[in-house]
Amino acid sequence: MKTLEDYIRVTPDFPKPGIVFRDISTLVADPDGMRLCVSQLAEPYRAAGIDRVAGLEARGFILGAALALELGKGFLPIRKKGKLSGPVIGESYALEYGEAEIEMNDDVLRPGERVLMVDDLLATGGTAEAGINLVERVGAKVVSCAFVVDLLDVGGRARLEGRGMEVFSLLRY
Ligand code: IMP
Repeated sequence: MKTLEDYIRVTPDFPKPGIVFRDISTLVADPDGMRLCVSQLAEPYRAAGIDRVAGLEARGFILGAALALELGKGFLPIRKKGKLSGPVIGESYALEYGEAEIEMNDDVLRPGERVLMVDDLLATGGTAEAGINLVERVGAKVVSCAFVVDLLDVGGRARLEGRGMEVFSLLRY
């Protein structure tokens, strides 16, 4: 029987030399892979009192939407700058070279809502931390962050745990 790891495509030197890229596109293309992944991601949260699932663009949308459906909750997309209509708040974060910004509608979450943050992969933690900041700015609370892949050496887990965040991942390298 295939394990979760078997469904993920690993490409050395993509998008640039020295990076080992782990892509869930092959996992979500397979209904058995998708089902296995979503049920494993949902398991710790079935009785966790989650009110909403937030997903980080773009692969976090695929898994986050499926997870929201599995948990019977609504989904909140956190998008790259300039994509969302309506009232938005934005948060910048550092990339290896330069800066990026993500945005969230600020009229969806209610103060005190318990949010599960989802993305495919945790590297530096910059993207997830910016997402957490957005949720906190409207008075809601990220109770946990869930990832398929956790690149421990890059430091994202330590960074998020350092600010008191719970981090859950299915595969750690
Ligand atoms: P971080 O902000 O450094 O933690 O990077 C995580 C974000 O970059 C996630 O949204 C990932 O989709 C993307 N990312 C970084 N490295 C990889 C990789 O090896 N495979 C797939 N996505 C990656």
